[in-house]
Amino acid sequence: MSAAPASAMSLGLAGCEVCGLVSRPPAGAAMARCPRCGERLHCRRPASIERCWALVIAALILYVPANLLPVLTTSTPLGGVSDTIMQGVIELWSPSSWPLAIVVFVASITIPLGKLIALAYLLITVRRGSVRSMEQRVRLYRMVKFIGRWSMLDVFVDTFVVALVQLKPLMWVEPGPGVIFFAGVVVVTMIAVNNFDPRLIWDLPQQEKQDHA
Ligand SMILES: [Zn+2]
Repeated sequence: MSAAPASAMSLGLAGCEVCGLVSRPPAGAAMARCPRCGERLHCRRPASIERCWALVIAALILYVPANLLPVLTTSTPLGGVSDTIMQGVIELWSPSSWPLAIVVFVASITIPLGKLIALAYLLITVRRGSVRSMEQRVRLYRMVKFIGRWSMLDVFVDTFVVALVQLKPLMWVEPGPGVIFFAGVVVVTMIAVNNFDPRLIWDLPQQEKQDHA
């Protein structure tokens, strides 16, 4: 393996997360600010791992009622039917609309859980100071962040598609309580991703090297 370049932190420098200026915070100062834009400077986001873990666990807890509570109530003059996400997928599963069933399944069940598993994996490997597949892990982080931008699409796809397919005369559709928990999963996961500091992926191996030197 080629020698890893020195990090800004090991040289006593900090990069501003807003304007990108790299500066040297005064030694011993409790709180340094960027000399150009005034943003607070920190070498790594404070308590990044702890905050990210707390949010990942919170999102996992919200994921349970999001899947167990109905997300959609369809009412007809004969009565109402409430569907959870999975029941919606099963109802959509027919020769004509199976592609929509797959879209709803992937957008509402696989992707939210996949994001949380990916974040947990990143947190565990960072904590362990793993030196393996660092570039792949950065790619994974970018992917999770990229998908996050489209997250609200999950909720939209889920309610809209099922409603569209089921809509007939004298039928009305209302969102169920599961939608609130589902939106909670999406929002909390987005905050978790923002709290994760990807620079941590590159950190520990260098410290380890210094320890061994
Ligand atoms: Zn700045």
